[in-house]
Amino acid sequence: MGSELMSNNHLAAVLYGAQDLRMERVSTVPPQPHEVQIRPRATGICGSDIHYYQHGRNGSYVVRTPLVLGHEAAGDVVAVGKDVTTVKVGDRVAIEPQRPCSSCRQCKQGTYNLCPYLKFTGSATANPPVQGSLQQSYNHPANFVYRLPEHLSYTEGALIEPLSVAIHAVRRSGLGAGQSALIFGAGAIGLLCASVARVSGASTIGIIDIDQSRLDYAKSHGLADHVFKMPADASDLWSKSTWPTKLGGDILQQPGFGLADKVFECTGVELCVNVGIHCAAPAGKVVLVGMGSPLQHVDVGAAAKREIDLLGLWRYANTFETAIDLLGSGRLDVKSLGTHQFELDHAADAFDLVLKKPAGLVKCIITSN
Ligand SMILES: [Zn+2]
Ligand SMILES: [Zn+2]
Repeated sequence: MGSELMSNNHLAAVLYGAQDLRMERVSTVPPQPHEVQIRPRATGICGSDIHYYQHGRNGSYVVRTPLVLGHEAAGDVVAVGKDVTTVKVGDRVAIEPQRPCSSCRQCKQGTYNLCPYLKFTGSATANPPVQGSLQQSYNHPANFVYRLPEHLSYTEGALIEPLSVAIHAVRRSGLGAGQSALIFGAGAIGLLCASVARVSGASTIGIIDIDQSRLDYAKSHGLADHVFKMPADASDLWSKSTWPTKLGGDILQQPGFGLADKVFECTGVELCVNVGIHCAAPAGKVVLVGMGSPLQHVDVGAAAKREIDLLGLWRYANTFETAIDLLGSGRLDVKSLGTHQFELDHAADAFDLVLKKPAGLVKCIITSN
């Protein structure tokens, strides 16, 4: 089948609302002069996709018009606009799902992830939304696709987007060689933060989660030096005002654990943010990687009196080339994170599986041949 025919009538997984995902045939217009047309081959399912699927919304962003999810993607370039010179038809690429305006102050200073006019692929942040990669064809600005080395798979290409979050988090933390890192949450982002902290020279890496199977995964893949299973019922064990101190004290006494130079909070859970502050070394940093409830009770006093910086994090900027260099050179290996795989026409099954959170699940990848 020629790309021409395919782009005119191709398969798409379209979300209409909570748990209402329909396989439909849709069309894609030819790419604009500065765009390329992508044939997605692998898409990772992200926590935000799961929120959209489960509730028909992600925080304040509600699915109002049919939405094609998918922002962690790699695929083939099947057509290019007339002004495109950086990639050509047949190139295998990873797709950076951000579309900043390129002329505001943030864009000009390189922090384009903070562009107030940015449109994000496969989300309901813009109206109408920019449709995502869970389909067989879509267009994207050519300067936000990056050629993959031959030996990297499409799955590895799809993992570059979450890896970018980890790269940005570690950059924000200023982690230096020989410093210690403590990570809350052993999901894909937490594990990727551990990997990037490791190649950035972290001396010891501790990971905390409530799920023992995730901790076992982290340990067996050499991503953590020490792991700690957080009691799932921690919130019942201690009164609200004292639990972070007690739990933090408990963690610090575990073998291998100690006050950490950099804390990566990848859960968004209020308790973990507070325990993270208590586990950070004086003058340490806590990077708020996880997206939790926007309003939280945070012990700012505990942070202030030891000059601990709480760092916000919003996606990433200028990370894709770094990620490709790290993966392409073999300095970083993320292949094992793609634990589950479904074909595009079974996209709903993939979402249902991720919702069930089976043991051993890190990242579910939806492929398309
Ligand atoms: Zn994501
Ligand atoms: Zn801008």
